[in-house]
Amino acid sequence: MPTSGVKTCAQTRRDSSKTEPTKAQAEECAICLDDIDGIRRSKLAFLKCGHTFHSTCMARWNKQCKERSYVRTCPYCREKL
Ligand SMILES: [Zn+2]
Ligand SMILES: [Zn+2]
Repeated sequence: MPTSGVKTCAQTRRDSSKTEPTKAQAEECAICLDDIDGIRRSKLAFLKCGHTFHSTCMARWNKQCKERSYVRTCPYCREKL
């Protein structure tokens, strides 16, 4: 699966930065690993599973899935969209 690398990166980074335990959700885009904190809501993609990504990253992800005929899933938790 093409998502394995992305997921590993995200997990590693989350484990190494043990900050703000009150925030249950990752405040970064699991696709590009940049912050989503402070980004305008109109520039973000909110998925059913509760994860958030940059809309540009999500568009690229959707395109990749379509090109490879994969079922679209959340890049973070792989929940079907
Ligand atoms: Zn992103
Ligand atoms: Zn998710």
